[in-house]
Amino acid sequence: MAIGISTPGGIENLITLDEPTDDPGPGEIAVQIEAAGVNFIDTYHRTGLYPLDLPSIIGVEGVGTVTAIGPEVSDVATGDRVAWAGELGSYATTVNIVADRAVRVPDGVESTDAAALMLQGMTAHYLITSTFPVGEGNRVLIHAGAGGVGGLAIQLALRAGAEVFTTVGSPEKEAIAAEAGAHHVIRYDQVDFAEAITGIAGPRPIDVVYDGVGAATFEGGIALLRPRGMMVTFGNASGPVDPVAPLTLSQNGSLFLTRPTLGDYVATTEELRSRADELFALVESGELVVRIGGTYPLSDAAQAHRALEGRLTTGKVLLIPNA
Ligand code: NDP
Repeated sequence: MAIGISTPGGIENLITLDEPTDDPGPGEIAVQIEAAGVNFIDTYHRTGLYPLDLPSIIGVEGVGTVTAIGPEVSDVATGDRVAWAGELGSYATTVNIVADRAVRVPDGVESTDAAALMLQGMTAHYLITSTFPVGEGNRVLIHAGAGGVGGLAIQLALRAGAEVFTTVGSPEKEAIAAEAGAHHVIRYDQVDFAEAITGIAGPRPIDVVYDGVGAATFEGGIALLRPRGMMVTFGNASGPVDPVAPLTLSQNGSLFLTRPTLGDYVATTEELRSRADELFALVESGELVVRIGGTYPLSDAAQAHRALEGRLTTGKVLLIPNA
């Protein structure tokens, strides 16, 4: 069984589709999926914000066991446990993926953790280490700190020596973000987060804003940045950000604005695997904690989307094909 869409739209547009039965092609491997990651991008695919050729199985992330290898594959073998992100067709029991985009999961890492690390973990990693390399004493604002990317980004920013401000939308999420170690947790469902942070740290205290919430938080974040600070707008959970005039950046202190996407930060197999290896090592040593906030049978993908879009999830949400 597989879950996808034939027409973009609401949750009711999720349908059951047949799984592809093709053998893996050149450079591909076939994988029996153990867990598929649920990510915001799946909802953007479903609604058509990010258009797909239709009909299409959705889901881009997972972990599982290699069952067959196609021609020209040399460094992955049948029986390997692998994880991946960015390979469409992952809301299924089996999928053929590009072998170069798979990473082998070390024995010391749970499959569920591996699935969480491939998209949300890699995103947190490139945001904190590459987009704006966070250093000792930086003041960072990470929105949605109890979420998948947010919870991991908080931990990585703390490791880099930052003072971490984060926002959350409920008392349960406040506790989760505090447990992850954030120094200042702001309930942006109750207070104006920009005013709250100015109250704590003075005017324009923030070196970098990591904003995956989008439309609802963009302007407040701009108002908090120090001169030459960086706004990293990386997602649209509340809707896409409106166009911004370049003059806005000079008027707010010669700011930098970037809209990064994971694919460009794991463009080569070497970069993909080096980020993954670093994250796996941190999880194995207990220095990075993955929070699995919910697991659903694959057939309940609609419920998972409802929870994600309804702001009811924390950490990673997974679909289990053989639950
Ligand atoms: P999360 O687990 O963080 O879930 C999104 C959270 O956003 C919600 O739990 C909620 O937290 C908050 N939120 C605020 N307003 C809304 C709203 N109107 N509707 C829904 N949620 C809202 O998701 P992910 O960790 O999977 O992804 C976070 C963001 O990162 C997404 O925008 C995603 O698209 C983006 N992303 C970008 C990537 C890139 O490379 N550019 C790669 C991966 C993800 P709260 O209740 O606390 O407000």
